[in-house]
Amino acid sequence: MFEFQIQARDGRARVAQFHTPRGAVTTPMFMPVGTQGTVKGISPQELLDIGSQMILGNTYHLMLRPGEALVQAHGGLPGFTAYPGPFLTDSGGFQVMSLGHMRKITEEGVTFKSHIDGSAVQLTPERSVAVQEALGADIIMAFDECPPYPAERDYIQRSLERTERWLARCLKAKTRPEQALFAIVQGGVHQDLREQSLELTLPYDTPGFALGGLAVGEPKEEMYPAVAFTADRLPAHKPRYLMGVGHPEDLVAGIALGVDMFDCVYPTRTGRFGYALTDDGRLNLNASAPRQQLMPLDSECDCYACRQYTRAYLAHLVRAEEMLGPRMLSLHNLRYLHRLVERARVAIEAGEFHSWATGWAERYFKGQIPAWFQKTLSLNAHEA
Ligand SMILES: [Zn+2]
Repeated sequence: MFEFQIQARDGRARVAQFHTPRGAVTTPMFMPVGTQGTVKGISPQELLDIGSQMILGNTYHLMLRPGEALVQAHGGLPGFTAYPGPFLTDSGGFQVMSLGHMRKITEEGVTFKSHIDGSAVQLTPERSVAVQEALGADIIMAFDECPPYPAERDYIQRSLERTERWLARCLKAKTRPEQALFAIVQGGVHQDLREQSLELTLPYDTPGFALGGLAVGEPKEEMYPAVAFTADRLPAHKPRYLMGVGHPEDLVAGIALGVDMFDCVYPTRTGRFGYALTDDGRLNLNASAPRQQLMPLDSECDCYACRQYTRAYLAHLVRAEEMLGPRMLSLHNLRYLHRLVERARVAIEAGEFHSWATGWAERYFKGQIPAWFQKTLSLNAHEA
């Protein structure tokens, strides 16, 4: 259980099979986010059809509404949501810090006011694990403290030390062996603090590790050296999860540095705003040009929206505020990210990742590949 079998490597990038109680998944993979126990607008059957493997559930949202006991009464998230595959739940920590009102962080945990009914709620490492055990995901996350960007160096250091103490409490509270708990490495964009967090975290030897505290507003020029530094020092034979990251260029850059798992609300959120992801960049269906275009959203895509509809029809739905519009754009955007990681895997297996990624970026950035991306790709070739 939770074995991580590497099948191919190309520089730092790798393809692997990750075994979970609800089946094996192939990495690198992108995980759609089901914040409220649903990937907004997309049915479980549609998720399976587009190649989704693991779905993310949010502890913070589900504990406040409907409450973890109701989810548990359905046998956990798979029974509640009818998605039959593996799940991952976050610890709730990140949402508490970003959404909780009047939050107060102490050594014990975080106290905050519910954004739903204003009641006072406490989330501690023990409570986070108890909720995640009730939600019943295959992968659960350690309750950590994620400092915002920018933050005082002293605060980042204190919080990474606390994150380690909270990790120890999470592991002590954990009772279900069929769930894997991933530890989270913090330290912001400071290399020495990342090093310190790694030294504190690695001895726990959890079945996987997450790169936390990134993609919280820092420039990519600072984020990717921190990803490279951290990923290099994580055990090679365990999955590495870059939390909250899911723009196409971030998937390609993360994979180049040996990241295996990603999640983000971006594909469904940008779909609801009328945008479609393509190899030529983001297509805006709110603009006037697509209203006359009788071609698919993306002629290379095999999703239902691209097989059945023209851009003109989908732009009409968006303009008329018909719910099928955002639904189809969300479906396409998720399929685009799944196809992107599938193509990356094929390139890694063929030993052609660098040239594939360069070709993809030439087109995506319209010949203007940003320096941070080029630098990240060049690190791929220097095997860790
Ligand atoms: Zn499509």
